[in-house]
Amino acid sequence: MDPSYAQPASVTCRRCGEAFSVDLWLIVDAGERPDLLERVRQGALHAFPCPRCGQTVEADAPLLLYFSRAPLRLSGREVRLLFSPARRTRPQEDEAQAGALLARLREALGPAWQEEWLREGLPVLPRGLLTLPARRPRGRPARPDPDPGEVHRGPHLGRIPPHPGSPSRAAHG
Ligand SMILES: [Zn+2]
Repeated sequence: MDPSYAQPASVTCRRCGEAFSVDLWLIVDAGERPDLLERVRQGALHAFPCPRCGQTVEADAPLLLYFSRAPLRLSGREVRLLFSPARRTRPQEDEAQAGALLARLREALGPAWQEEWLREGLPVLPRGLLTLPARRPRGRPARPDPDPGEVHRGPHLGRIPPHPGSPSRAAHG
C-alpha cells in the first residue's frame, strides 16, 4: 500500500497572475514512488509550470519522506522518516505541520507503523539539501543517483524532538 499523500492546492503564477490547481505532495513513500523521489531530488516536487505562460511556479509546502523499503543513510544512521519544512514558515509552524503529517502517515500505515522510527526524534533537512546527490564517494564529483542512498549531513541538520505526552491515536476518520 502506498501511503503517499497529495493535497489539492491552488497556486498563482507570479508572472502572469494565472491561478491554477495542483496536487501538492506532502507525504512521499520513497519506496513506492521512486518517480516522486526523483522529483524531490531535482527540487521539482513542489514546482509547477504555469499552464498559461509556462513560468515555473514554486509552492511553499512541507514534505515528509517515508523510506518504506530501504532506509535512508543519514549521518551514519539509518532513518525511515525525514521531514523537510516549508521555506517560509516559523519553527512552531514546522512542528505543527510535521506533527500533522506524521499523524496522517501513522494512520495510513496502521500496524506497519513503528514508534521506533521516532525514538530519537524526527530528522529534519532543509529543502536545499534534499537535492544533493545520493552517494558521493570521497574525491569524486557528484552525480545523480536514483537510489535513496545517503544524504550528507548539512550545517542545518536539525531534529524535531519526539512528543512523549502526545496521543498517538487519530480520533477522526
Ligand atoms: Zn503564468
